Amino acid sequence: MPYKLLAKSPCDRESHRCCLMAMTKEEKRAKSAEASRRYYIKNRARILAQDKIRHQKNKEKTQKRYQENKEKTREQRARYRKENPEKIKACRKRWQKDNTEKSRAATARWYEKNPEKAKAVNHNNRAKRASCGGRLSLHLAERLLSLQKNKCAVCRKSLRGGYHLDHIIPLARGGKNIDSNIQLTCQKCNQEKGSKDPIQFMQERGFLL
Ligand SMILES: [Zn+2]
Repeated sequence: MPYKLLAKSPCDRESHRCCLMAMTKEEKRAKSAEASRRYYIKNRARILAQDKIRHQKNKEKTQKRYQENKEKTREQRARYRKENPEKIKACRKRWQKDNTEKSRAATARWYEKNPEKAKAVNHNNRAKRASCGGRLSLHLAERLLSLQKNKCAVCRKSLRGGYHLDHIIPLARGGKNIDSNIQLTCQKCNQEKGSKDPIQFMQERGFLL
């Protein structure tokens, strides 16, 4: 029988040659990547131990090479991240799935270390859940603190004790989760403002808007 006919015949054997021949290049690559991943998970301890020995053996060489190519490596990594956001996302998701505990601990550590950025992340997650879209930049709070001279945008009290990221036009009123719709307020003003009409809210406080 001609090979092409064989290749199209149904077959449920995963490693069957005719099926492999019928696969596209991308399918073959994905299959191979999945096999490598399964192999890695199964033999993780041994692979890591081998890597450690190899690393110790070549430590100086590796460090020297890294120092020599530091900038180039950074640029290459940054470029790869920029050009392959979907791949990075999928890879991160896979790692999180395989390392649930580690992943949770790392997230908790990051939140603890970056309380300001965490506020923006929380807002982004909330907006995502509410399907509002938009994304706040991580350094937004820093920028606004400086612009607002560390004062609440509503009552002008100092924000040194803490602040809230407030959506000027509330999400519930169609406001967007974008940097230009955010101001910093104290906890009290943020809670009082809630999802009220922002202009009415300020007018009630004596502002001529
Ligand atoms: Zn206030």
